[in-house]
Amino acid sequence: MKITLHGAAGGVTGSAYLVETDNARLLVDFGLFQGGRNPAAKNVLPAKLDPKRLDAVLVTHAHLDHTGRLPLLVKHGYAGKIYATEATVDLAGLILRDSAKVQGYDAERTNRKLRRAGRPLVEPLYQAEDVERTMACFRPVQLGESREVAGGITARYFGAGHMLGSASIELTVQEGGKNKVVVFSGDIGPSSFALIREAQPPKRADLVFLESTYGDRDHQTIKKTLAEFRRIITHAVERKARILVPAFAVGRTQQIIYHLDELFCAGTVKPFPVYIDSPMAIEATRIYQSHPDLFDDETNDLQRACDIASRHDHVKPTPTPEESMKLNHVPGPCLIMAGSGMCTAGRILHHLRHGLWQPDTSVVIVGYQGEGTLGRQLVDGAKFVKIFGETIEVKARIHTLNGFSAHAGQTELLRWFHQLARSKPQVVLTHGEARGREPLAELMRKKYGLQPLLPVQGDVITL
Ligand SMILES: [Zn+2]
Ligand SMILES: [Zn+2]
Repeated sequence: MKITLHGAAGGVTGSAYLVETDNARLLVDFGLFQGGRNPAAKNVLPAKLDPKRLDAVLVTHAHLDHTGRLPLLVKHGYAGKIYATEATVDLAGLILRDSAKVQGYDAERTNRKLRRAGRPLVEPLYQAEDVERTMACFRPVQLGESREVAGGITARYFGAGHMLGSASIELTVQEGGKNKVVVFSGDIGPSSFALIREAQPPKRADLVFLESTYGDRDHQTIKKTLAEFRRIITHAVERKARILVPAFAVGRTQQIIYHLDELFCAGTVKPFPVYIDSPMAIEATRIYQSHPDLFDDETNDLQRACDIASRHDHVKPTPTPEESMKLNHVPGPCLIMAGSGMCTAGRILHHLRHGLWQPDTSVVIVGYQGEGTLGRQLVDGAKFVKIFGETIEVKARIHTLNGFSAHAGQTELLRWFHQLARSKPQVVLTHGEARGREPLAELMRKKYGLQPLLPVQGDVITL
């Protein structure tokens, strides 16, 4: 058996593994490259990957860096099945349809310039109809169920606690009269993650592909983060502030709603309106609500015990731009959640332009802010920022909370791996930059006497 890495090898995006045996060829994840230098050049169908010769595709979770190139397969002739958990199918539909739109906008913008320069035009990576044909290929699988996905290959999905529906995938491969077990961790969530059940790692393997996003460090504990969150919200309510939260639509928004539920249900603060000002976040929240079977016990207990958490009367979706604009005039205390998560685009920009110069606004940053983004400038304490070309003075209170990560830190990655270590598997560290995976490799050498591989894109692992 050989496994070729077509992404997330030395970086955190573009996850894609091609598994080939004597009898079958399948792909695990086929994600988009994001950020970095010229991602467009990498977002292609690799020359050695012929979609027509694939027997199956398996997906760990819905994030774009794991699903974003799937429509390319279908566009180039793949007509087989794509296996994923039911929640992943739902969320992938939302994320891929949005991706097709973004590809369209990007191509249009590039073409405006190319047209003026009299140069040949570009085509979007894929279009809405490619996504619809991709969605028709999806087949839902249950966590824990064994399913033959290709000749001699059985797959089992294990909850990964990273986002709704996220999973690790275990493949049992029959070849030459022997069984070999290969595990793909997918992205692993921290055990203290709100809403969804904690990761359940597979128990035995011959070969493990382990993510290493935060292989070098542990996050600030969620306890400390939530104490700070409580303090910020309580103060903001006392000041009757309008609280702005830039948040990614899928995952972080639902997590913040949950933590507000905790405060409201405990009586820490009286419920106030929470506006979900993003069509995508509204739809993602609906999808989360339709999979209560994936919630952890704390979430189910809270919803059972507390009317506020089960009815969500205070959560107010504002899908249309008109409704969004009206939010300029709603009094505090209230909380407005909108994208983009790093304040680079979207409705949050309008709210920041309207709110940053007013001292009764609080901005709560709950996610990572990339270099060069408006979100990063706010975190770094900028006194003035530019929004839509206009200079805005920052008089609002800016709070940064770092503990809401959806990725396990170093200690928790090792804990996830602990039982697998007993079968002394070959370990391959992926989905991490050098600074994440080298310290993790060192620890695995010391702790387990293993020699993890740190492959680069295009490398082939044989078993
Ligand atoms: Zn992910
Ligand atoms: Zn990822």
